[in-house]
Amino acid sequence: MLDNHIPHPGIPHTEVDMSSEHAVIVGAGAAGWSAADTLVRSGWPGRVTIVDPAGATNRTLVNKGVLTGLLTREQLSRPVPTGTDLLQDEVEAIEEDGTVQLRSGGRLAPDAVVIASGSVPRPASFEADAGTPRSRILPLHSADDAERVRRLLPQGGGRVVILGAGLVGSETASLLADAGVGVTLVARSSLPLRDQLGPAVASELLRRHRDRIRVRTGRSVARATTRSSSAVIELSDGETLEADAAIVAHGTLAHRPASGSDQGAITVDARLRTGLRGVYAAGSVASILARGTAIRVDHWDDAAAQGAHAARSILHDLLGGADPGDYGFDSGFSSRIHGSMLTAWGVATDRTEWSRHVEGAAVGVGRHLGRVTAVAGLDAPLVVRDLATSASRDLRDPMSLYPTGV
Ligand SMILES: Cc1cc2nc3c(=O)[nH]c(=O)nc-3n(C[C@H](O)[C@H](O)[C@H](O)COP(=O)(O)OP(=O)(O)OC[C@H]3O[C@@H](n4cnc5c(N)ncnc54)[C@H](O)[C@@H]3O)c2cc1C
Repeated sequence: MLDNHIPHPGIPHTEVDMSSEHAVIVGAGAAGWSAADTLVRSGWPGRVTIVDPAGATNRTLVNKGVLTGLLTREQLSRPVPTGTDLLQDEVEAIEEDGTVQLRSGGRLAPDAVVIASGSVPRPASFEADAGTPRSRILPLHSADDAERVRRLLPQGGGRVVILGAGLVGSETASLLADAGVGVTLVARSSLPLRDQLGPAVASELLRRHRDRIRVRTGRSVARATTRSSSAVIELSDGETLEADAAIVAHGTLAHRPASGSDQGAITVDARLRTGLRGVYAAGSVASILARGTAIRVDHWDDAAAQGAHAARSILHDLLGGADPGDYGFDSGFSSRIHGSMLTAWGVATDRTEWSRHVEGAAVGVGRHLGRVTAVAGLDAPLVVRDLATSASRDLRDPMSLYPTGV
């Protein structure tokens, strides 16, 4: 079964039976869709099968579309890439030789597998009745979750407590406030998103939150309970918050398709290879080992870029295509929060050193070992774009930024 990372040298071209090439992609989200599309567009000579019980969906619209009522759950679906097949089944395990076991009992024996099974919400870190059918304490990861939260809110209003002020928590707070919902945002950190965006942008974002919604920073949750018609949140300092629903926005954990004992992200090398021959992983299920540091990113564009990179590695390893080189974290994301446009590029870790781009501007530049690896800005998309473009040009060997032990 899929285990820890052991780099493999790739499969020589001569071993491949050109008549039976088959690639299986596990998951049709950002990474899986992009891996399949890249394979087909780059001339993969055989079949490409995407296995996903839910079909292809765009998770970024769960809060922006379904929670707000602008879209139905069906409208999150998108067609699979032209030239690929969708198998609506669930992968239960991937064996040592790459054989894929399906929940339906079927087995596939492909030449290459890309695991792109995404993530699950990180469970609540406090005592809660989340997970019971009548619970009003819910994650916000799927269309189901969004519909459940919507059903708990009275038309055009209501109150929601959001537990966690990361990107999804912050954006959702803004979306609900726009919809007339009374929002309280609770964060354990005194400056949420400091590590991801840098202090200049994080503090400006916090100011925007405080202007529009109730905010409790530097507080943790002691207990969350569902009463007959409300969620009751007890904070560590003794304050009690009551709302129609509480959203647990504590980020995500990697979701492995295999039901075995292995847990956590799948570690891959810089070409997105797992330790199993012919098996690759991409997107939020993967943790990329870059010279000793494992980096897991959960953003749409980065997942799509990883999927494409895994496909290019397959074409290189199996068919002698061009070597795609090491994966570089060269993607960005944007989000509209309280009417301001947050844009960011690159990847920041808790070791990133942030500085303000110019005095007075909410633009942060993150450096690792002296080189720019992350940029973030509020209402400064062109500045962020220009800084990102020049940083991207400089990062000719991005993996050299993360030497062993750093
Ligand atoms: C509410 C919300 C809003 C977001 N907004 C943004 C945003 O604005 N910008 C941004 O950059 N990111 C956003 N994100 C994050 C973004 O959605 C993810 O980073 C991205 O979807 C990750 O892509 P992925 O391919 O790794 O996983 P996913 O897109 O989640 O896809 C994983 C797929 O694998 C399938 N799968 C799981 N297990 C199996 C199995 N055993 N067999 C077969 N298939 C399986 C699932 O059904 C799913 O379709 C948001 C996330 C959430 C929850």
